[in-house]
Amino acid sequence: MIAVLRIGHRIDRDKRVTTHVALVARAFGADKIFITTKDEKIKKNIQSVCSRFGGDFQVETGIDHKKIIKSWQGSIVHLTMYGMELDEAVDHLDTGRDLLIIVGAEKVPRYFYEVANLNVSVGNQPHSEVAALALFLDRYTKAAWQRKDFNGNIQIVPCVKGKTVLSKGKT
Ligand code: SAM
Repeated sequence: MIAVLRIGHRIDRDKRVTTHVALVARAFGADKIFITTKDEKIKKNIQSVCSRFGGDFQVETGIDHKKIIKSWQGSIVHLTMYGMELDEAVDHLDTGRDLLIIVGAEKVPRYFYEVANLNVSVGNQPHSEVAALALFLDRYTKAAWQRKDFNGNIQIVPCVKGKTVLSKGKT
């Protein structure tokens, strides 16, 4: 199980970025996202993607992050530009264990730096939780996310030009 914990989501300001964090989590190999703020709209959007494109990615919003962290049985990483360098950090992680990946929005309280087993940096420049999560998941899964079969009602067939889309039930 790979889960993402999105903290500090502000409904008005962060809705697009948090949606992108969830989409990246789903596409790049995570099983679940916890969003601390209650936001039914984001949940519905992501569920709609899952019903069309497949997989059983789970979304929970309005959660108590302390409860999730306390009851988490696996490793916990926090993505921050101050952390351990990405490749070195990935080498330290046991991929056989469940993993909770914390990403921030606004300023991240010290608690999260302390509760993480590893603070991990994706480069040491400030950029984006979307980019940081994508790169982290790519390295952590050793790019296995690319071969995941979502078994969706809609399937895209890669092609050089145009769009090739297969829909289940249609020929
Ligand atoms: N100003 C915030 C702070 O002081 O923590 C950071 C805001 S940043 C836009 C939002 C999130 O992106 C961070 O909490 C972190 O998870 C992620 N992030 C940004 N740059 C990163 C980097 N170089 N490495 C890893 N994560 C990064």
